[in-house]
Amino acid sequence: MNDVLAHIEKHREEYLGELFNLLRQRSISATGEGIQECAELLSGMMQKVGLNAQMLPTGGHPVVFGDNLLEDAPFILLIYGHYDVQPPEPLEKWISPPFDPEIREGRIYARGAADNKGQFFTHLKAFEAVKAIVGNVPIRVKLLIEGEEEIGSVNLSSFVLKNKELLTADLALGVDGNVHPSGRPEIAFGMKGLLYCELTARGPRADLHCGKDPIVTNPAWRLVWALSTLKDETQRILIDGFYDRVEPVSGRDLELLDKVPVDTGDLMETFGVDSFLGGVTGREALRKLVFEPTCSIDGIWSGYTGSGMKTILPAMAKAKLSLRLVPHQSSDEILDKLRAHLDRRGFSDVEIDKLGTFEPSKNPVDNPYMKEIIQAVASVYSREPLIFPMFSTGGSGPDFVFTRDLGIPSVWIPCAQFKDKNPHAPNENITVEGFMNGTKMTAALMMTLAGKSITKRKEGIHE
Ligand SMILES: [Zn+2]
Repeated sequence: MNDVLAHIEKHREEYLGELFNLLRQRSISATGEGIQECAELLSGMMQKVGLNAQMLPTGGHPVVFGDNLLEDAPFILLIYGHYDVQPPEPLEKWISPPFDPEIREGRIYARGAADNKGQFFTHLKAFEAVKAIVGNVPIRVKLLIEGEEEIGSVNLSSFVLKNKELLTADLALGVDGNVHPSGRPEIAFGMKGLLYCELTARGPRADLHCGKDPIVTNPAWRLVWALSTLKDETQRILIDGFYDRVEPVSGRDLELLDKVPVDTGDLMETFGVDSFLGGVTGREALRKLVFEPTCSIDGIWSGYTGSGMKTILPAMAKAKLSLRLVPHQSSDEILDKLRAHLDRRGFSDVEIDKLGTFEPSKNPVDNPYMKEIIQAVASVYSREPLIFPMFSTGGSGPDFVFTRDLGIPSVWIPCAQFKDKNPHAPNENITVEGFMNGTKMTAALMMTLAGKSITKRKEGIHE
C-alpha cells in the first residue's frame, strides 16, 4: 500500500494538471453549456486510466460510466460523482476566472473544484495509481458520474432503475462533503431528502397604482399570509401532518453524534452569525443540524424592489421554498400535505410548482464493510474518522438511488475541507491536500475492500 501512496505523491503535479483540464471545461447543467464536451472529455480521461468508458443517455444530460470489467471480482464498488457544476455568476466576485483554475495558498480555485470534479477525479487517479503499482485493481470498480446533480439529479433515479444490472454492486461510495473542522475526516451514512418548490400568488393582470389596495387583492400579502402558516416563531413546522412519519433519533445515532467535538463559536463564525436559533449551542445545535427536518424560505420577491419609491400593487408574488426531509418522509407525501394545508386555510389560489426533489436516505451504520472503510480513511488522514449517521452539513443528495433503488449500502466520504470552500459561490476551492488525500483514500479503499471481502465470501456472509 505504501508504494501506491508514494506513487500518488510522486505524480502530484501531473494529477493536478489533469484535474485542471477537467476544471477548464465548462459544464453548467442549468444552461447545458459545455455539458456534452465535458462528458466527452471525462469519458476520454476514464479510457486513459484503463476503464471501459461509455456515455449513457438519460432523459437529460448523459451519465459517464466507467467500468474495469474485472471478471469474478471479490467485490464490486460503485462510485458516484457529478461532472456538472453550478453557474459561475456573479463573475466579478471571482479573484481568478471560474474556468481558469489557479492555486493560491494551497487551494485550487475554480468552479467545480470542490463540488464535485475535484472530489470525484480522485477516484480516476486512485484507480490509475493502484493499477500502476499492483498491476491490476483487485476489485471491480464502476464509476457513475452524472451531469445533473446541480439541477436536482432529475433523471438519476429512472436511469438507475433502468440499468440495475449494469450497476449491480456490493457498496456505493460517494465522495462529497466535508472534512470536520477538527481535521478529522467524516464518514456519513445518510442524507436528508429535499422538496424544493416555488409558490406563486397572483393579483391583478398587471401592476396597479397601490391606491387600489382597498379593493384589489395584493398577491404579496396573500403569499406572506400563506407562508406564515407554515412555521411558527419557535421553528415548529406547522404543515398539517408534517411530523407524522418523523421518528425519534435512535440512541445509537445520538451516541455517535456525541463523539463529535463541537466548537459552537467556530461554527457561528463560519456561518457569520452571533447566535443560533433558540439559543442552542454545542451538541444540541449539531443534533438539530443533522437530524431535524426544515422548512426554509430560500427566496421571496414581488413588486418593485429597486431603489427609491414606486407605488405599485404588484401583479404577482413568488417565493422559493425548500423543505429538508428526514427518513420515512417522502417528497410526494409532503407536497400533498403542503397543498392540502394551504387549501384548508383558504390559500387554494397560491400555486405550488415542484422544482426538484431528493428522497431522504439512511443506511445502518454497521454495514459489513464498516471496518475496512474506517481503516482506509484513518490510514490516509492518520486521524480517527468521525461517524455521522446523516450528512453533517444538513444537506441532501441522491443517496436514495443506491439504498432504495439498488438496495445496496452506501457510504459518503469527503475530501473537501470544511471551511471556505464556497461551493455554489464565487471563489469555490478545494485544498491541494484534500485532493491528494482523496486520491490516497480511494486507493486504500480499493485495496482493503478486496482483501476483506474474500474472507467474508468464505465465511458465507457476503453473497
Ligand atoms: Zn453542488
